[in-house]
Amino acid sequence: MRRRWRACWRAYAAAPRTRSGAPCRAPAVAGKARCRKHGGAAGSGGQSGNKNAWKDGFYSGPEKAERRRIMDFVRACNRVLEEIDQIDGDR
Ligand SMILES: [Zn+2]
Repeated sequence: MRRRWRACWRAYAAAPRTRSGAPCRAPAVAGKARCRKHGGAAGSGGQSGNKNAWKDGFYSGPEKAERRRIMDFVRACNRVLEEIDQIDGDR
């Protein structure tokens, strides 16, 4: 099956707009998040592995994985607390 292209406007929270104000619906360039008109053109962007915008790695893979791990634990705790609340509610 042919992989469906992703519309340019799905790349980020703030979608690029056309002159009429509608979100850009052009297909993203293969291997890029945006269409050719909004920063996906061949040769645009930094070299792979560029760290120009790196600040503290908050959005890096390992940091996100750690936050996910912590949030999974917090959710599990909340589930247990909810169960305890329900048991208490029966009395
Ligand atoms: Zn676009």
